[in-house]
Amino acid sequence: MTEREIDKRIAAIKGELAALGPLHPGSISRQYNVCGSPSCRCKADPAQRHGPYYQLSYAYQRKSTSTFVREPDLAEVQQQLRTYERLRALIDEWVALSIERARLRRVLRKQKSTAKIPRPKRLSLGTRRPSTHK
Ligand SMILES: [Zn+2]
Repeated sequence: MTEREIDKRIAAIKGELAALGPLHPGSISRQYNVCGSPSCRCKADPAQRHGPYYQLSYAYQRKSTSTFVREPDLAEVQQQLRTYERLRALIDEWVALSIERARLRRVLRKQKSTAKIPRPKRLSLGTRRPSTHK
């Protein structure tokens, strides 16, 4: 990729980031529970346990948290999880492109500096103040 192509892709990434909708980190697991009622059917048969319940687990600021998601909200939350994954993918790509861009610039600078014809020492005198002649 050229520097120009990289800049173009980064601009596209920024555009996509700005258009992202609601998002949320984490993943959803399905759970079945046994209740506290001694006479309930769930006690005897694992297939008769209550549920499914949907649990959203995620880590935020290095703390793991989980919360239950109601079934009517499931599709919306799953969409938010996908949007979060997209956010992370776009950020990763932006970072990778930025590293590549910096590498390219270092190479280009090196090529320029080695291609440059070294100035003769005499020319540096020209930067001095003009001497006053009497
Ligand atoms: Zn039960």
